[in-house]
Amino acid sequence: MKRNILLNPGPATTTDTVKMAQVVPDICPREKEFASLMRGLRSDLLKTVNANAEDYTSVLFTGSGTINIDICLNSLLPDGKKALIVNNGAYSSRAVEVCQYYGLPHIDLKSSVFERPDLAAVEQTLKENPDIAIVYTTHHETGTGILNPIREIGALAHKYGAISVFDTTSSLAMIPINVYDDNIDFCMASAQKGIMAMSGLSFIIGRTEEIRKSKDYPKRSYYCNLYLQYEYFEKTGEMHFTPPVQTIYATIQALKEYFAEGEQGKWARHQRVNKALHEGLAKLGLKEAIRPELQSGLVISVLYPDMPNWSFEKVHDYCYERGFTIYPGKISTTNTFRLCSLGAIDEEDIHAFIPVLGEALELCK
Ligand SMILES: *Cc1c(COP(=O)(O)O)cnc(C)c1O
Repeated sequence: MKRNILLNPGPATTTDTVKMAQVVPDICPREKEFASLMRGLRSDLLKTVNANAEDYTSVLFTGSGTINIDICLNSLLPDGKKALIVNNGAYSSRAVEVCQYYGLPHIDLKSSVFERPDLAAVEQTLKENPDIAIVYTTHHETGTGILNPIREIGALAHKYGAISVFDTTSSLAMIPINVYDDNIDFCMASAQKGIMAMSGLSFIIGRTEEIRKSKDYPKRSYYCNLYLQYEYFEKTGEMHFTPPVQTIYATIQALKEYFAEGEQGKWARHQRVNKALHEGLAKLGLKEAIRPELQSGLVISVLYPDMPNWSFEKVHDYCYERGFTIYPGKISTTNTFRLCSLGAIDEEDIHAFIPVLGEALELCK
């Protein structure tokens, strides 16, 4: 099969064994055989964030990663309480929009997209608003590539009696995460990113006790409610409605490969890819938008170069035709494009990509 190198922020390049795992005999997902696959999958997902089955559970949903943001916020906010969104980028802004659409009381603590959030401002807001029940932020802000201090933000949430909900969609199964050390009550991802499977399956990992408590919270969505889906899984082992059957087979294979590579081994590989990208960009004279010490090591926001005939489209198309996918930026005030180190790729792929990017830049002179 043709191997494309995806440098966009997911779906990522997958292995052929993961692709082929989807080709299975037809099965009705209401069969016991399928429920038993999902049981194993739910328990393996806990291991990706070092969570214990006594404290945490994972709940699966059919949908892209944004469904998790929607579900966590609409399901975990008790009546009369507020969510605090620590917002330094496009993905936390998405959470603010979810609150707006549901009419959920919330505080949008917005700060520069070029910096980490100010912890003193987070604490001050918690102090002044004892009705905050959820502290929410994005771990790896994929829009810029900044890694946010969730451990510290989670500790502040707990100090003021709130739960922490973190969007870990673009860090889970890439950057090592430990729900206990990182003060995570809820985190989330979709199968297409760190796990390197296919799109269509998303999951939330959270404290079982908090999910049980949410049974009595307002039900604001019929399809997207965390407690209802959890309860259905506990009773039947199944999703309430049709699961993405083939994606689940791919995810089970991808997790086998994840555990074989290992948490540390995989993170080391992503870092090799990222290092090769930084070196290649420097060689080509391209500059980055985010200071190196703030970066996650998974996404680089590259500033548009000052070239007379610069065209992102042209550079994208030149690379795409040669098997490399680059991606537009997501910083509204600055023109950038993004290069990501997700997926089943290694430094050799970047060594092959940089000369192609160099040729594309020549066309812009
Ligand atoms: C990819 C991503 C999502 C989910 O986006 P979808 O387009 O719904 O898959 C959510 N949060 C972050 C931080 C992401 O990187």
